[in-house]
Order: sequence, then C-alpha cells, then structure tokens
Amino acid sequence: MSLKSQFHKSLIDNLYDGVYFVDKDRLITYWNKGAERITGYEAEDVIGHYCHANLLDHVNDEGCHLCASGCPLLATLADGEPRETEVHLRHADGYRVPVLVRTSPMYDEQERIIGAVEVFSNNQSLLKMKERVHELEKDIFRDALTKVGNRKFLELKINTALQEFHQHDLSFGLLFVDVDHFKAINDTYGHQAGDHVLQNVAESLAGHLRNTDVCGRWGGEEFIVLLQGVNLNSISRIAEKLRAMIASSVITVNQDEQVSITASIGAAVVRDTDSMTSLVERADQLMYQSKQLGRNRVTLEE
Ligand code: GH3
Ligand code: MG
Ligand code: MG
Repeated sequence: MSLKSQFHKSLIDNLYDGVYFVDKDRLITYWNKGAERITGYEAEDVIGHYCHANLLDHVNDEGCHLCASGCPLLATLADGEPRETEVHLRHADGYRVPVLVRTSPMYDEQERIIGAVEVFSNNQSLLKMKERVHELEKDIFRDALTKVGNRKFLELKINTALQEFHQHDLSFGLLFVDVDHFKAINDTYGHQAGDHVLQNVAESLAGHLRNTDVCGRWGGEEFIVLLQGVNLNSISRIAEKLRAMIASSVITVNQDEQVSITASIGAAVVRDTDSMTSLVERADQLMYQSKQLGRNRVTLEE
C-alpha cells in the first residue's frame, strides 16, 4: 500500500462512524474499524461478500427487510443521489442496532458510477442516554452549589489515599479550610450572597491545585483539600498560598457590594496510625487553633 493510500485508510479507520464501500453489484470492498465496532463484524468477515446477502439485513422501523427492494445503497447506485435513512442493522450477536445511514455515489474519471459509500453512526439517543448516565454518576460526587467534590467524594479520595499510603508509602496531607465569620456575611448581605461567596472560595481553592490534588466541600462553609506527596514543609507553602488567594479576593455580591473574606486553615500530614476519621479530626482541630489565634492563618501540626 502506498503511503498516501495508507494515510487515507488510517484516516477512515479512525473515524468514529462506520464506513464501507460497495461496487456496482453491492460487493463490499472496504470496511473500517468504526463499522467493526458498531456491527461486531470484522473486515475479513464481510469484505468480498455482497451486502444484500443478508449480512447486516437492514430493516426499517416497521421491521421490513430492505435488502431486496428498499436498500438505500441500491437506490443511490441507480440514480446517483445521496440519501440519509434511519435503519436498524443486525449486530453479529443478533440484536438490532439503530443507525443513521448516509449513502453517496462514487465515480470514476469518466464520471461513471462505480460504487457507493455508506457511512453509518450509532443512533444519537442511545449515545445521549449513555452521556446522561455518565453525568448522573458525576452528580453523585459533586456539590451542587460549588461544583467541587462533595463529602462523599472526599471520603472516597481520602480512603484511596490512605490505602496507597499503607501499601506504597505514598504520603499525603489534608487542609481543613473554614471561612471566617461566615455567618456575618449571611446576616449582612443575605443567604444568596453567602452562597456566592462559597462558590468563590471553591474557585480559589480548585484553581490553585496541582493535577493530583483534589478539593471538596466537607459541609456548610468548610472545605477539605487533599494534597498528594506532601511533607510539613510543602504542605505549609501550599496552605499559605491558598490562604492568601482567599484573603486577597474581592467578591461582588448583590450587584454592587464588595465583600472580602478570610479563612482559617489546619494542615495535617498522614501518620501510620491514621484512619480517615483521625486524620480529618486532626486537621479540624488545627483549623480550630487558627481560629483561636486570630483567624486568617494556617496552623501546622508540631
Ligand atoms: P467562624 O469564624 O468561627 O468560623 O464563624 P462562622 O460564622 O464562619 O461559623 P458558624 O459555624 O457560626 O457559621 C457558619 C454559617 O454558615 C452558619 C450557616 O447558616 C452558614 N451556612 C452553612 N451552609 C450554608 C450554605 O450552603 N449557604 C449559605 N449561604 N450559608 C451556609
Ligand atoms: Mg464551620
Ligand atoms: Mg466558619
């Protein structure tokens, strides 16, 4: 195969859609990877066979077989017109797959029809449903207000990090972040403004993390950040940066009112004896010390 035709073959093979070519007698001459994936038939099963030999056995919505009379490829070969039809092909395992089929004629240099190409794709509603399931799965772990992880997500991530710490000695740490005097924000500006402030805190945290770190909302105005591979030095630096980012943001609420906030942070690094509860409690206690020392600060363990 020449480099150029190899390029075209690999281009067509990499399309998500199914693509196949037939000659004038509807003999299949090419079958791409997408067609293999959608139909379950490998190229070697179908190339050299006639597409009307009951192989894919397209039926319409009423279940009528199209191969003999209603075949869109046959119609395109006859009149040279491209077509688009919704049909149901038969998967190699027997069940019906809804597909959108597009057929177009192929010409030689003298503009004579020498065959046709059929491009087919999975019915969109099926794909949409799969996407929706994926979305729902994400919703289970996402905090609806701030869009960062929720408590369930954090618990899952902390437990996984604990396992990796015990098995592979991969250290990690937690920051417990609590917004200072948050009740006063609600009281002064209203609950909706308070919600907006929480969204901003989440943005400040999530926007300054490395790829391996995660953050989530533990509850109310409390967030937890999980930092991979940290020691007391590095966790302190990251915590200070996040504290400074929160303290230096100016949040607009109720259209034109400017609110500044601070947060108190406790930073704990995992120990051999830790469970999730003991580690979170330690970070929470350290955060509480930050409150007692005047707020807007980071407290590290000894
Ligand atoms: P401290 O500096 O000691 O942390 O004081 P604080 O006012 O931040 O702490 P406190 O625990 O007294 O108040 C937290 C407030 O957060 C009380 C609660 O009504 C409010 N809150 C909890 N969840 C939400 C929420 O989803 N939206 C809004 N707007 N407020 C919330
Ligand atoms: Mg709190
Ligand atoms: Mg608070």
